[in-house]
This record gives sequence, structure tokens and C-alpha cells, in this order.
Amino acid sequence: MDDPEYDYDLLVIGSGPGGQKAAIAAAKLGHRVAVVDRRDMIGGVCVNTGTIPSKTLREAVIYLTGLSMKELYGQSYRVKHDITVQDLLARTQHVVGREVEVVRSQLFRNHVDLVVGTARFTGPHTVVVEGSGERRQLSAANIVIGTGTRPARPPHVEFDDGRVVDSDGILSLERIPDSMVVVGAGVVGIEYASMFAALGTRVTVVERRERMLEFCDPEVVESLKFHLRDLSVAFRFGEEVEKVEIGRQSTVTTLASGKRIPAETVMYSAGRQGMTDELDLEAAGLTADARGRISVDGQYRTSVPHIFAVGDVIGFPALAATSMDQGRLAAQHAFGEPANELHDIQPIGIYTIPEISYCGRTEVELTEAAVPYEAGIARYRELARGQIVGDSYGMLKLLVSPSTRHILGVHVFGTNAADLLHIGQAVMGCGGTVDYLVDTVLNYPTLSEAYKVAALDVTNKLRELERFDL
Ligand SMILES: Cc1cc2nc3c(=O)[nH]c(=O)nc-3n(C[C@H](O)[C@H](O)[C@H](O)COP(=O)(O)OP(=O)(O)OC[C@H]3O[C@@H](n4cnc5c(N)ncnc54)[C@H](O)[C@@H]3O)c2cc1C
Repeated sequence: MDDPEYDYDLLVIGSGPGGQKAAIAAAKLGHRVAVVDRRDMIGGVCVNTGTIPSKTLREAVIYLTGLSMKELYGQSYRVKHDITVQDLLARTQHVVGREVEVVRSQLFRNHVDLVVGTARFTGPHTVVVEGSGERRQLSAANIVIGTGTRPARPPHVEFDDGRVVDSDGILSLERIPDSMVVVGAGVVGIEYASMFAALGTRVTVVERRERMLEFCDPEVVESLKFHLRDLSVAFRFGEEVEKVEIGRQSTVTTLASGKRIPAETVMYSAGRQGMTDELDLEAAGLTADARGRISVDGQYRTSVPHIFAVGDVIGFPALAATSMDQGRLAAQHAFGEPANELHDIQPIGIYTIPEISYCGRTEVELTEAAVPYEAGIARYRELARGQIVGDSYGMLKLLVSPSTRHILGVHVFGTNAADLLHIGQAVMGCGGTVDYLVDTVLNYPTLSEAYKVAALDVTNKLRELERFDL
């Protein structure tokens, strides 16, 4: 029986993927639920400034530049010659608008109240919501914090929302720059670097570390770097930015090594900061770390047992997909519903051009852990569908245990990598072996056929070992 002393059984702060799914899950269980967010942020960072706009922009870039068709129709093929920011944004705004409507209608259909404004704690069970000149005090038996993150801005850099921008500011550029410095070769930085390079911008990537995307398969990262260099991207690894000067027309980025890089625009992608500073966490008995993150236990419970935190505000892996499941599970734990833990095989999708996706372990990890494996590779150019879609560089790699024949890792590079990955993830998750892929008929012609080719490659190698006779 829910406690009538409170306005709500569950109050969710933040309407991003984590918050939304927590609210819907609680509503489906029959509880009284409200979600708080700012008017222009319904759907969260995911819908408004992060995942959805960046992925729509990417589709618009691939379509308008005709990039994926150049192998078939020649290097000069282009759907539109003078691509403008308006061309790109038209599609983005359309999709973002639709997605906001989907979120609103899902909340409405499930009888979840949407409270507009910024929330802050006034006690462990109470928050005040302020916005549009109004102030409301709300109480709840349980609270989920899903406030996400904002781009971290280094204090020594002056951002001017035009020439020196972060991943939010990139969405309001007035023109496609001729040249750009991207500081930070993390996932977001390298995704945008590849999009602008595809548009014809001369991109220089500056990264403090010696390598990029070091958690991915090194062969895949090499292929990506090859492609980006082919699009005139220059990499400056092991380099630190000392200062960025803003002139009337352009910028100059000075590196600690003394190099000076002129560019029309600088995009900083220097990590993200948890959105907890406006929450007055102390009033609820909570604290955040220096990066604004809140720690939780395996049930997404904070140190105050009826307050949960989900999504990017709790840190790694900071992905929309994971945030959704964390939200759903937090709501189930809040109401004592049985809930399974998330499967430990998590997919990673990196929407560079070309795309990367993987799950399980890399060759480097397996070698470091002294776990024997055999690798099987399928190249898209060997697949009929690869030829049809004009992708000659894509590849899929399976890492297989020679003793159990279980799949230890799947690494995909190229067209539809993020979608294709899920076949391998499902086989791994269900404990299947490489033989399942050999013995299964797959549609033809498809890119999924890469699994069959890679599986046959592995099993042929394994057979050779098995037949070895001293
Ligand atoms: C450029 C970019 C590209 C990305 N691409 C991908 C991708 O391809 N795939 C993927 O899985 N993930 C991607 N991500 C990550 C993904 O967007 C996040 O993991 C996801 O949005 C996190 O969801 P969340 O539930 O933590 O809430 P968020 O989406 O971060 O939203 C939090 C919400 O809380 C609100 N809020 C904050 N403070 C308050 C307050 N005090 N009161 C009321 N409301 C508040 C904010 O306004 C915001 O709407 C990307 C991120 C970025 C920045």
C-alpha cells in the first residue's frame, strides 16, 4: 500500500532515458509518478543535445555527401553540392521534435505527471521545482535522480558559442567550418571529427593520450584512422593544448609542444560533468564526487536508501541504452519488485564514419589474461551485400575459445556495425558456440552473412589444430 502522506510514490528528476524508463516502469506497476525537467530539455541530453541530434546529423552527412555511394558512382558523386548547416539541421530538428513528442506522449499515456522546471532537494523526501516564475514543493516516498551530465569546460579556455564550442555548441554553428580543431579523441570528439571531415572540413584531432579509443580492437581503430586520414584528418597524439586564441575571423590553438594550429572553429570534447550542483544534495543527505557523480549500489540506491540515481550521473558506461535499463531496474527495486541484474555482455556502438561496434573481449585483453583464442574474420567485400551497398572496407571479427568454442568477443567495423553486433551478442549471451553460426542458415544477401564467413574461418583454423599430429 502506497503512503498517502506523500504527493507521489516516485518522483524522477530528469527526463532523459534513465528517468523516463524509471517513471514508466513505476507507472506500469500502478504507482503515482511525476517527472521533473526543464521545458526545452524533455527527453534529456539524449534527445536534445546528445545521442539523437548527433546521430541524425551523421545520417544527414552520409546522405547529402553521398559518401557511402562513392564506390559505386565515383568520387565526385554527391547528393547536394553546397551543403549548408540548414540542410543538416532541418533533418535534426525534425527528428528531435518527433522524439520529444514520443516522450511526452509515453508519459501522458502512462499517467505520469510532467512537472516543468529545475528541481532541488529541500529534504530527503521533498524537492522544490522552480521555473517560468513558478515554485512548487513536491514530496515523494521514493526519488530517482537522472540528471545526467553537461560538457566539462576547462577553466583556461574561453568558449564563445561560435568559434570555440563544446558538443552542445556544435549544434548551433552558423556555417560548416573550413577547418576545425577537435580537442579530445574520445567517442564524442571522434564522432564529430569524422562527420566534419566527411563534409570537407580540414580536421585536426588533438589528444593528450598516445592512442585513441584504446578500449576497442586495435585493428579496428587502425582502420578507422586510415579512413579518417583519407578524409584529410590530422592526428596530434600525446599533445596537450596550452591555449586557444580567438581572433576576429578564426582561432589559433597552441600546443605545449609549441605547435600552433589555425582553424575556423575549435571543438572541445573534454569529458562531462555530473549535473548535481543545482540539486542541493546536502539537503537530502547526499554528496557527489569532484566530477559531480553520485555513487550507488548494485540496486542503483544511493546512501539514502529511498533515493536512487541512474544514467550518466552515476558515471560509466554513460550510454543511453544502459541508462534506460538502470532506470527500469531502479523503479523495480524501489517497489520491491523482482528484477534481474543486467547481463554483463554490454554492447558498445561508436558512430564514427565508418561505424564501430563490439562486445566481449578484445585480442589485447585476452592476450594479457593469457586466455587462448582463435580469430575469424569476414570482410564485407567478400559478401554480396557488401558489394551491393558499396562497402569494401567493412569487417567482422569473431574471437573464439579453442577449447569450449564459445564466442569471447565480436568486433565489427563498417556499415550497420552497431545493428549487426547484436547477433553475436545474442549468441554469446545465450551461451552459444561458434558452431551455431556455422550450422545456421542466414538470409542472403545480407551483411549478417559476415557471421557465417567469420565462423567458418575460425572453425577451419580450429580443425587444422585438431588434426595436427606430431
Ligand atoms: C554528443 C553525444 C552523443 C552521444 N551519443 C550516444 C550514442 O550514440 N549512444 C548512446 O547510447 N549514448 C550516447 N550518448 C550518451 C547519452 O546521451 C547519455 O548516456 C544519456 O543521455 C544519459 O541519459 P540520462 O538518463 O543520464 O539523462 P540525460 O539524457 O543526461 O538527461 C538528463 C536530464 O536531466 C535534466 N536535469 C538536470 N538537472 C536537473 C534538475 N535539477 N531539475 C530538473 N531536471 C534536471 C536535464 O535537463 C536533462 O534533460 C551521447 C552523448 C553525447 C553528449
